[in-house]
Amino acid sequence: DLSQRVEVTSKDEIGVLGEQVNQLATKLQKLEILRKKLTADVAHELRTPLTTIQSYIEAFQDGVMSIDEGNLNSIHEEVLRLVGLVSDLQELAIAEGGKPNFKAELINLKKFVQSRINGLSKLFTDKDIDLNLTLPNEDIKLEFDKKALNKIIRNLISNAYKYTNSGGKVSVNLKKQEDKALITVRDTGIGISKEELPYIFERFYRVDESRTRETGGTGIGLAIVKELIESQNGIITVDSELGEGTEFKVWLPIKE
Ligand code: ADP
Repeated sequence: DLSQRVEVTSKDEIGVLGEQVNQLATKLQKLEILRKKLTADVAHELRTPLTTIQSYIEAFQDGVMSIDEGNLNSIHEEVLRLVGLVSDLQELAIAEGGKPNFKAELINLKKFVQSRINGLSKLFTDKDIDLNLTLPNEDIKLEFDKKALNKIIRNLISNAYKYTNSGGKVSVNLKKQEDKALITVRDTGIGISKEELPYIFERFYRVDESRTRETGGTGIGLAIVKELIESQNGIITVDSELGEGTEFKVWLPIKE
């Protein structure tokens, strides 16, 4: 009966192993689908500006369009779009690579956020958006990469700026919540519908292609932000109401 027991045990083990292999296979399949989608998206994003540039150049060669400043500016805009896209992709790849490029430094978060806000205030005044900042009394210290932190804050605030009309309001709030720093960026902008909300952190996702093309977005910004935050055990959430506004919350582990 010992042999029977061994057999049963090994059958169980094989069963468990089989289950694990199946789970792994499903995971790999999902990753493969994502990888293919990313490649297709990158190809699409590169093709659009390239096709425009190509059409201009062919029109110049055929003599049906004059090489004037306006047309050259249009080409230049498409080139800038390509440059922006490539640098976004590079940043995403770096963020996904995780820690190697991450240089943790002690940061006084209050000062850091305050200086970012100061740097942006003119932009907001010019668009007639009220930008206000609420800071806690206590100091909050983080061990974080300065460039990464800058990227996170700049991206969220610049999205709030892009998607809020003149006369609107953007509020940035910083506070301590248990062992985390909580940064809230809230706007009274156009908002995001419940259907779109789950996808906004995906690479290349844009709620309205034509609208965001005008604002110059690539749809990669939030994917980078999420990657940077989660790689450091932080959390990002979003809440939004169409036509009312959007609120992003970021929790980052603090240094006691
Ligand atoms: P983009 O470069 O296009 O802004 P992001 O990854 O930063 O790309 O954002 C993805 C999409 O999420 C945007 O295209 C926009 O549709 C939506 N979005 C992001 N932030 C906001 C916001 N504060 N208000 C409304 N929509 C937003």
